[in-house]
Amino acid sequence: MKTPNFLKNYTLPLLREQIRALGEQQFRAAQIFDAVYSHKVNNFDDIATLPKNIRVRLNEEFVFSSIRLQKVQESADGTKKFLFELFDGRAIETVLIPSEMVTEEGTPKRMTICVSTQVGCPLNCQFCATASLKLKRNLATAEIVDQLLEVQKYIGKKITNLVFMGMGEPMLNYDNVMNAVSIFTYGEEPLLGSKRITLSTAGVIPGIIRMADEKSPIKLAISLHATTNGLRNAIMPIARKYDLKQLGDAIEYYYRKTRRAITYEYILFNEINDSELDAKRLAKFTRRVPSKVNVIPFHDIEFTNPTGIAADLKPASDEKFRTFIRLLQNNDVTVMIRSSSGEDIDAACGQLAFSNAVADNVVQQYSELQL
Ligand code: SF4
Repeated sequence: MKTPNFLKNYTLPLLREQIRALGEQQFRAAQIFDAVYSHKVNNFDDIATLPKNIRVRLNEEFVFSSIRLQKVQESADGTKKFLFELFDGRAIETVLIPSEMVTEEGTPKRMTICVSTQVGCPLNCQFCATASLKLKRNLATAEIVDQLLEVQKYIGKKITNLVFMGMGEPMLNYDNVMNAVSIFTYGEEPLLGSKRITLSTAGVIPGIIRMADEKSPIKLAISLHATTNGLRNAIMPIARKYDLKQLGDAIEYYYRKTRRAITYEYILFNEINDSELDAKRLAKFTRRVPSKVNVIPFHDIEFTNPTGIAADLKPASDEKFRTFIRLLQNNDVTVMIRSSSGEDIDAACGQLAFSNAVADNVVQQYSELQL
């Protein structure tokens, strides 16, 4: 099925080209951008700054919205999970996590959206439910942008932070993800500041190098989860292509180019990666550049009927969790603990999956994304 010509696929320079190709003046592109992203109009007819004939033309040439909200589930802790249907009948999930910290008015200080970048994922991380879906396709830029716009419209509040940590590996859809970043950060009052956007990768090195060379303004997080090549190869097959030495070198290169600190994600698995030696190796690996480590509890993904090593992955006990944190702190690592939330709606970051396009799904999400 051919992808429709979604308006929100286009960054401002690309939209100018489109508008020029229609025989209209380029400044119309900025008017469209202001209307769509600053004034949040919902269709071309509401763009009052455009003459009617141009609005008619836009309606003929472009499709305004790329996703359709199918279902929302809300956790007792306020985490919300959104199921969106795509133009080809496929579906994606997006998670919204309010921070526990609140303003004087009692509203969450941060509203973080966890955005998907692919339908499914090809990387087959053994702890991840999305892997069971395999890769269906990359999302178009518009399908990424519309996740934020639709969720913001639904909640009627501004989203303050965004993580590319939903379904899919963002580095494998690099151009569309970065075009979405360009749209999110457009203008004097952008939808989001670049410092409030984080891209999380399983360790796709060409993407890390590209972000470094392009001096990408957003933040980078690395899903590490293991400190030896043997274990990393077993639980994250992408590690067979890019080993820890190559990953560490790429991260150092990124830091030299951008001077931006790294966030490492480390899910703690019982008796797998939670030893004192693991903590020491993790401290050594992360010491190469300024960084912090998010230690994350693991949530069973029994619903995917895991086999092999995936079936052996169990959460570390609370005591082991506390011990591991202490060991890291004793080794001068800045540690953030992610407490689980949204469990009552089966909600968790990077672990999104569903049994079919509009049916029940399983996700898990962590409450306190320390961005
Ligand atoms: S953890 Fe991320 S990269 Fe790995 S399979 Fe899941 S979605 Fe893909």
